[in-house]
Amino acid sequence: PFKENTVIVVFGASGDLARKKTFPALFGLFREGYLSDTTRIIGYARTKMTVEEFHSRIKEHFDIRDGSQDLVGRFLDMCTYESAQYDQPEGYKKLTVGIEEFEASRCVDRPHRLFYLALPPAVFIPVAERVRKYCHPGKNGVARLIVEKPFGRDLATARELQEKLAPLWKEDELFRIDHYLGKEMVKNLIPLRFANSFLHACWNNQYISSIQIEFKEPFGTEGRGGYFDNIGIIRDVIQNHLLQVLTLLAMERPISGDAESIRNEKVHLLRAIKPLNKENVLVGQYARSEDGKKPGYLDDKTVQPGSKCITYAALTLEICNERWESVPVILRAGKALNEGKVEIRVQFKETKNGIFSHVSRNELVIRVQPNEAMYMKMNTKIPGVSNRMVVSDLDLTYSQRYNKFYIPQAYESLIRDALNDNHSNFVRDDELDISWSLFTPLLEYLEGPDGPDPVPYPYGSRGPPQLNDYLAKNGYVYQGRAGGYQWPVTTPE
Ligand code: NAP
Ligand code: NAP
Repeated sequence: PFKENTVIVVFGASGDLARKKTFPALFGLFREGYLSDTTRIIGYARTKMTVEEFHSRIKEHFDIRDGSQDLVGRFLDMCTYESAQYDQPEGYKKLTVGIEEFEASRCVDRPHRLFYLALPPAVFIPVAERVRKYCHPGKNGVARLIVEKPFGRDLATARELQEKLAPLWKEDELFRIDHYLGKEMVKNLIPLRFANSFLHACWNNQYISSIQIEFKEPFGTEGRGGYFDNIGIIRDVIQNHLLQVLTLLAMERPISGDAESIRNEKVHLLRAIKPLNKENVLVGQYARSEDGKKPGYLDDKTVQPGSKCITYAALTLEICNERWESVPVILRAGKALNEGKVEIRVQFKETKNGIFSHVSRNELVIRVQPNEAMYMKMNTKIPGVSNRMVVSDLDLTYSQRYNKFYIPQAYESLIRDALNDNHSNFVRDDELDISWSLFTPLLEYLEGPDGPDPVPYPYGSRGPPQLNDYLAKNGYVYQGRAGGYQWPVTTPE
């Protein structure tokens, strides 16, 4: 079931996010039958363009599947465009007249309006203010505001933003998008953890020796580093996406499945994280590739000459509660590496060898992207006459098991949640505040006069040369091919 006659307004509709993510996600929802054709979608930005120009711009990134060609036209018929200013009331007033006309023509007695701010942070508050003032249906209807990162760049700016936003929009009217929370495997963490007794039983420091959450990107800034140079990998990926994944991976069981119970537990977990140890951080910046073909970060003309911007970081969190005390949690993320992937790796403690000469550790790997999968590396007997053991896996590869299923893009999943008024997969104000409290002292140190110089690493490598030592020092036992692990299995042992 879906809502009828919803009005969705995308501010900044001429921009990159709108073109690459927001409109393709709305189309994806429509294609899959999750968005009613009674929905009215309005793009709003300053750029002057005709509706036809707007349509051809937004459909560039549509995922048009076999048989869905005719849906494109039907979807575009639902989309109009308004060119107006962000800081003047006229555009908003005109927008509301159009919305009210639409609602009147459909005999809507309780308006449902979703405002999506696909805008740079500089105009975020002025727009939120005017939308509240001129476009909110008041008590007779429902208005929701979707906002995008960055939610500040440190604790002070995040609080300032929140102080300005809170009097305008109530927390239950706001959806702060962290698109990692819309990814299939991240959404799967709650069922995985709380609906499987065998995992639940060993999900603690008695059995688990370390946790890693890892983000790897195979490309650098590629001439568009201006934005990244002021941000760095910690703000871009770790403070938000990876930390959010950790909260779901490590929180206690919520008292119920509703959004506030889940977010309460995420907050409890965040509160239990010890202040980050500045001495135990590995930071790097990519340099030219070993063959000299790929540029170093500083070769990007759009970054400050001599920039110390961090393009790789590994850091280790300690969670100070009964479940996780003494289990190191490594969060690491980097650009221009040897591969692109996001995965969670939970390593279990070793079993006493007992009757065996060597037993490898179990590892549960949850691959968030690409190609969703989860596998538990485990010891089994080699098939056949041999009694030797080998490391194998319990493997759930989605493309094999669920090849007929449609897995929505993260933005599709989240916009659908917002349309259904489900806040579970959005970041609450207090989560945001604690995450900045954790990371701000570290960022101040790293970016201050005493901060270390980032270690250069070649474009296309696994990261700074010290990485393996760092992982070992922080509790990860690399087993490599010990135990005879192969994937896929190509040769009999
Ligand atoms: P963008 O293309 O730079 O900006 C979106 C639109 O906002 C522009 O088309 C422009 O429209 C307007 N705009 C740009 N600069 C402005 C300014 N200084 N003052 C007033 N209006 C301005 O940004 P984006 O990449 O779409 O990102 C939008 C938001 O989403 C940002 O907060 C970004 O951090 C976040 N985000 C983006 C991505 C992504 O993939 N791009 C991913 C995650 C989060 P008009 O000039 O036509 O009004
Ligand atoms: P692996 O390649 O052994 O890597 C395991 C972990 O060790 C990674 O976190 C890796 O970091 C790190 N690492 C690599 N070299 C290291 C070193 N010298 N010292 C310390 N740490 C090191 O991974 P695996 O889980 O055994 O899987 C092996 C391959 O099989 C992978 O390609 C995996 O995708 C594939 N596989 C796929 C499926 C599936 O698709 N269903 C199932 C099972 C296995 P980095 O990530 O930074 O390199």
